[in-house]
Amino acid sequence: GSSTIQFKIVLLGESAVGKSSLVWRFCQDQFSETIESTVGATFIHRVMDLGEYSIKLQIWDTAGQERYHSLTPMYYRGAKGVIITYDVTNNDSYEKAKDWVNEIRTQGTPNAKIVLVANKIDLEDHQVDQMEAMKYAESNDLLFFECSAKTGEGVKDVFFGLSKALPVK
Ligand code: GDP
Ligand code: MG
Repeated sequence: GSSTIQFKIVLLGESAVGKSSLVWRFCQDQFSETIESTVGATFIHRVMDLGEYSIKLQIWDTAGQERYHSLTPMYYRGAKGVIITYDVTNNDSYEKAKDWVNEIRTQGTPNAKIVLVANKIDLEDHQVDQMEAMKYAESNDLLFFECSAKTGEGVKDVFFGLSKALPVK
């Protein structure tokens, strides 16, 4: 029989960019303005049907440790996919996202697939330039998606895009 390959996926990004909301939207198709920061204290499994084959994602969200700068490499150890999110209305969160990219490249799983996610596109007053982020992603070999956990726009693409890029061999 064939078994479904499982991949550890972690979410990274500054506090309040919408990491937990993204997972919530993707797994429950719901959005809450007052999501518990502890919602993602552990991981959620999702089987991804990619047509030719299926894989299983073990999706890790933080319990908010990033707020206290206390996320350790233990968290992303073994992760084959990393979703690094920023809030398009917050330039600091974009700078922090780039720091995470560097950290994963130097201390994360070698060849981990990294997805850069521009969240909260439903809001106005974007601070982060879309073209700049796209160019940064392209030149750093990252997948790039824009989405809104609030409206749901683009959220599935993040998880399917990453899933298709994972090495099943
Ligand atoms: P986390 O700290 O990165 O896990 O962020 P949360 O998922 O807890 O979200 C932080 C805040 O941003 C919450 O008030 C969410 O309701 C809000 N939020 C998350 N995603 C979106 C989005 O796409 N659009 C808007 N307008 N608000 C969002
Ligand atoms: Mg959270």
